[in-house]
Amino acid sequence: MVASPVMPRKMQLRILKKRQIWLYTMAVAVLSVTIAQLFIQGLYLWFGDTVFTYRYMAVAAVIIPVFVALPVAYSMGRVLYTLAHTQQTLTRLAETDGLTGLINRRSFFDRGEALLTAAKNASFPVALMILDADHFKQINHGYGHATGDKALKFIADAFNSVARETDLIARVGGEEFAVLAPDTDHQEARLLAKRLIDAVCEQPLLCDRAILEISVSCGFADTSHGYDLDRLYKIADMAMYQAKSDGRNRAVQAA
Ligand code: GH3
Ligand code: MG
Ligand code: MG
Repeated sequence: MVASPVMPRKMQLRILKKRQIWLYTMAVAVLSVTIAQLFIQGLYLWFGDTVFTYRYMAVAAVIIPVFVALPVAYSMGRVLYTLAHTQQTLTRLAETDGLTGLINRRSFFDRGEALLTAAKNASFPVALMILDADHFKQINHGYGHATGDKALKFIADAFNSVARETDLIARVGGEEFAVLAPDTDHQEARLLAKRLIDAVCEQPLLCDRAILEISVSCGFADTSHGYDLDRLYKIADMAMYQAKSDGRNRAVQAA
């Protein structure tokens, strides 16, 4: 009984380590011998020793369950182990953007909403940054789509290099990214926005044919505007468009 959409997570039997296969096998073997012994005891109490030889039956009730239950339980354990790992892999693939390795938009909203709920309950500030690559179409047109892909990975790596472990960094669209930073008030948000922008434009991207200077524009908002992710996203996105029209490669705080 590995993860199933209908069974609550706490009730699921998950075998994630090889050692647990043996523990599971032993538990099933002990359980089946116990049940067989109780059954034999019941027969003995009911019929006495007249119908069958209790001693032989008791021995058989150890040997048969062990020989039958051990291989069956071991095979089941291996199946549960494989299923648990397959499920983990599928979950990771469903939450991850294949190109950059960042989490994807859906996962960002799922985790972001949970983070904001926790932040609201514990009264700590959170900042949201929306970052969009500047003139990205020109990179694709000038150097090809493959170079454009490298540029997206380069941007993601730059963000990873300055963000904290607790920050949620996502690729939320084609050349658009979002960072949700817990424990970050409006002043720290300004500093983080600058660090993210600088991390991208400080280093050029070296490609086969060219040295590319990449930049991003950022709009940011913090929870002084409330803890609703959709609203924060909307106002940070508007601030990002303001940063574009102000000349790009800059950060603008949501009004
Ligand atoms: P602006 O500075 O105003 O944001 O201009 P822009 O060119 O970056 O914006 P626009 O929205 O006009 O173009 C975004 C481009 O990003 C178009 C699309 O082909 C490209 N793009 C989106 N996803 C990918 C991707 O996965 N790989 C590559 N190479 N390009 C992508
Ligand atoms: Mg763009
Ligand atoms: Mg865009």
